[in-house]
Amino acid sequence: NKNTDKKHSMLFHPSMDKEVNQEFLLSNHLRYAIEKKELYIYYQPIVEVHTEKIVAAEALLRWKHPEFGLISPEEFIPVAEKTGLINEIGKWVLKNACIQNKRWQNQGYSSLTICVNISVNQLKQKEFPQLVGNILNEINFDPKYLELEITESISTENVENIENILYDLKRLGISLSIDDFGTGYSSLAKLRQLPISKLKIDKSFISDIDDQLTNIQIPSAIIAMAKSLNIKVVAEGIETKKQLECLKDLACEFGQGYLLSPPVDKDSFERILHLQSLK
Ligand code: C2E
Ligand code: CA
Ligand code: CA
Ligand code: CA
Repeated sequence: NKNTDKKHSMLFHPSMDKEVNQEFLLSNHLRYAIEKKELYIYYQPIVEVHTEKIVAAEALLRWKHPEFGLISPEEFIPVAEKTGLINEIGKWVLKNACIQNKRWQNQGYSSLTICVNISVNQLKQKEFPQLVGNILNEINFDPKYLELEITESISTENVENIENILYDLKRLGISLSIDDFGTGYSSLAKLRQLPISKLKIDKSFISDIDDQLTNIQIPSAIIAMAKSLNIKVVAEGIETKKQLECLKDLACEFGQGYLLSPPVDKDSFERILHLQSLK
């Protein structure tokens, strides 16, 4: 996002040319962001491609600092990961996104699923599945409506450990999806070993569709491969009608992107749900 980049670059004096200083400054502020109520969650609709009906919401974290303004997650999530703050922040997102999803379900959108991004660092904690289970119990959330998005890089990590954690998570009754698929180098063989129910095709492959129609070969291959493994596919970053039409033709199950809706605050998401139910 060019806007936030620009705002952000003015934050730091040019003499602070060391990335370390920026990270240090950010992490000092991030530490108090939860209690100062500077963090909030945006929600982006995920639709069924052939009906364009909303089936899920992806929770996307936002940080609004009183002086620095809006800071992109691309900027502060890596800092949170390095400092370990991600564990605390991740718990906060998970709990609050589930609470919000439950409110929507109680309003009548009963099959709405909530998708929450999880960092590899969070997954690496042995106690992570238990932690997730505790949150679900505490707020009495049906695990069937929770999906955790993990990046493709987990499949190239020293898996052994992570594989067990994924199976423990699966046993809780939640679903797991692989985010940014196609940007890493995960092999089919490895994917098959993991209890994954969805793949999200990275947005770079979707935007390529517009440049040249032959570029649908990659999404097309991913969709075919996923089908053969009984894994559902979400195309992310759909920005044009043409992309959406192509994905319909490829029988891609789910889609997400600015064309359908950008991430929005909870009130706007609720309005979108309401409008859809009137159709
Ligand atoms: P992601 O999980 O791949 O999320 C998709 C990103 O693409 C979001 O950026 C979203 O706003 C953006 N996007 C959605 N539709 C379109 C589109 O049509 N075109 C384009 N160009 N972009 C689109 P956002 O919200 O800035 O988040 C960036 C990344 O930060 C996320 O990428 C995710 O990796 C990370 N992130 C966000 N929230 C969390 C969180 O709660 N926990 C963790 N661990 N990571 C998070
Ligand atoms: Ca994601
Ligand atoms: Ca993604
Ligand atoms: Ca990403």
